[in-house]
Amino acid sequence: MDMAAKFQDQLVFHMTGKRAGDGLSPVDGADLRPALLARYRDLTQLRYDYPVVLVEGDGDDYALSLSALVNRTLAEVAPRGIEGERLRRHGLRLERELRMLLAHGAAGRVSELWKAAAARIAGDADGNSAEVLARAGDSLTVDGALVDCDAALPARLLAHAWRNVQRGKAQRFRALVDQLVRKLTDIRRAAFVNSEAGRRPEALRAAVGAGHADVFDFVAMSRLVARHAPKDELPAARRDRIEWALSVLRAQRFYPDPAASNDAPPLAFEFDNCAAAVEAYRARLPQVVELVKALAIAELEAAGAYVEADHDPFFERYDESALTADDLALFPDYLVCIPRGRNDAPENASLMEMLSSGLPVKVLVQVDDLIDEASIGTGHFAFGVRSARLATTAMGLGGMFVLQSPSSNLYALRERVRRGLACRGPALFAVYDGDPNASSALPPYLAAAAAMESRAFPAFTYDASAGGNWAARFSLENNRDPDADWTVESFEFADDALQRVRERIAFTYADFVLCDRRHTAHFAVVPRDRWNAAMLPVSDWLARPDGETTDRVPYVWAVDTDDRLHRVIVDARLMQAARRALLLWHRLQEHGGIHNSHAEQLLTRERAAWEAQKQQELDSVRQAGKAAATVEAEAAAPAAAPPTNEAAVERAPSDEAWIETARCPSCGECRNINDRMFGYNENKQAYIKDIDAGTYRQLVEAAEACQVAIIHPGKPRNPNEPGLAELLERAKPFL
Ligand code: SF4
Repeated sequence: MDMAAKFQDQLVFHMTGKRAGDGLSPVDGADLRPALLARYRDLTQLRYDYPVVLVEGDGDDYALSLSALVNRTLAEVAPRGIEGERLRRHGLRLERELRMLLAHGAAGRVSELWKAAAARIAGDADGNSAEVLARAGDSLTVDGALVDCDAALPARLLAHAWRNVQRGKAQRFRALVDQLVRKLTDIRRAAFVNSEAGRRPEALRAAVGAGHADVFDFVAMSRLVARHAPKDELPAARRDRIEWALSVLRAQRFYPDPAASNDAPPLAFEFDNCAAAVEAYRARLPQVVELVKALAIAELEAAGAYVEADHDPFFERYDESALTADDLALFPDYLVCIPRGRNDAPENASLMEMLSSGLPVKVLVQVDDLIDEASIGTGHFAFGVRSARLATTAMGLGGMFVLQSPSSNLYALRERVRRGLACRGPALFAVYDGDPNASSALPPYLAAAAAMESRAFPAFTYDASAGGNWAARFSLENNRDPDADWTVESFEFADDALQRVRERIAFTYADFVLCDRRHTAHFAVVPRDRWNAAMLPVSDWLARPDGETTDRVPYVWAVDTDDRLHRVIVDARLMQAARRALLLWHRLQEHGGIHNSHAEQLLTRERAAWEAQKQQELDSVRQAGKAAATVEAEAAAPAAAPPTNEAAVERAPSDEAWIETARCPSCGECRNINDRMFGYNENKQAYIKDIDAGTYRQLVEAAEACQVAIIHPGKPRNPNEPGLAELLERAKPFL
């Protein structure tokens, strides 16, 4: 078979996803992984962010990585010199043992696991080192559960951080309430002492105390002091108000009260679904109103500032509409950790509504699958973007805190997590846990890290309270190479002549999908003797203009279990998904101020305006009034005026591309794909600004991306555009 025929096999596979002949091998059963992950075979041998200690106590540092704890401990116990070096070596060995214990299912507090690990290495370490390390375990500076990066981590870490934040709120609340209770009690006691009842013999005896009870004649004393005492020094209305406020403050169940006389347990604020949290919030609202009212009255009474003529009418009408953000901030936030696999359950259907209504709720949505095979080519969302969109959609609602991150990156973002949990109002934490039904060939930590590296699930935070613009609110956090399309790393291997070769390899969306055993059909292995110059790395293939990829086949580098290098070609459907992931990444980059199309557009507009103005001035000088009038007339007749809503509604479907402008909710998806082709009218609703400014592929992709399916791509204008057959098929649901 000649080389052209061999390459034809590859081209056919790329276009159709079908292997013909024996020139290509299946990926199934080959146990391949992306070449850049070759060095991460055994995570227990590496030092990285996990496992982490969920630190007990009230400090802000609620989590500490095991490596940081070992470093800290060794810095305390290891002396300088050879002896210290030996101890440090054994300390690192102990850290590895702890990782292995967790990998084999051990669980518990770090102090207990430390002892177990110290016992395991005792035989290998010299006697002194083993003893020092074992003793160090008794005096660790922190303690708490040691947890690995698995499917349970996001909920455990978030709930732990939430409790840490709530303890701080509880302390502030108790300090406020205890102080008010003390002041109101003092007012009541002082009034009693000066009243007729307070000057009765038994009250005087109680006031003097048992030590001097025999020295005084309390009956005679009472006769003397009670002569002009009022029946009750506190006016009845004031006494009632104080009594009522005290009873409400003492009976509240929002926070635990160590001095409480009632046995009613504090209210629970941790839920596993949105509906239950909303129901609890609504049911408790009257108690919130009552407690806020009691606090306000108590503060006024304690300061002697309650004026019945002013305050009575105000408090009579006091209801939930009077609650302020400051009031609500006094109360615990609601935590909703939606269990894996329950994101689409009916009880969670109101997630977005709940977040947009501003309830003080913190929600963890655990994303367990980023690759949605069923949606490929169905005319709806493209492959693999639904889960990745949740956080960006929430960000579009504004007014909240949003964090998106894979679980592998949560420890690095722990400060942000805490900030989100401590913020006023709602917060969404969308976390990919790296364990799609155990179908990943990688351990959860590595799968999660691969999702972030490949742009399949980039990390970002959006904090509406951080400032008035995107620069203050949005952060791309610690994504690697944030300016670039893909992360790139150096990769070294030995070629056929056993010479060292170094390549710069991009880690792409296709590499991420290669790790998922469910999607092996999108890949085929090319034998080494059929490698050829028409094969392009996925990143290079994607970087080419559409027309320049037709005779090229994209591939990723992969290694097998023996670390043999392979080229694995990728079919067109997966490449479409990779392109889509890249588009979403570009949108995040824009939010982060990278390659900002608005800035670039503004620059172009300003330059054009400046040039036009200069031209106009020149024309004015040259031709005087008539020429200037001509310029104005031309300017007043733009070539493609944005359609009004009415015009867009009336327009009938045709072979021409068009948009139902009046129905456009301005999500901006189409403009992210090509903002020269799609524009906004005066109502910020999309229309086709310049049909010739983009390709039919972009029209179809915009139609697929449009959340309300109002883009109709019509028929292709360029019959020579590559891939038209496939595009026409995809366009069908939108014609
Ligand atoms: S036309 Fe569709 S994709 Fe474009 S802005 Fe409107 S809703 Fe979004």
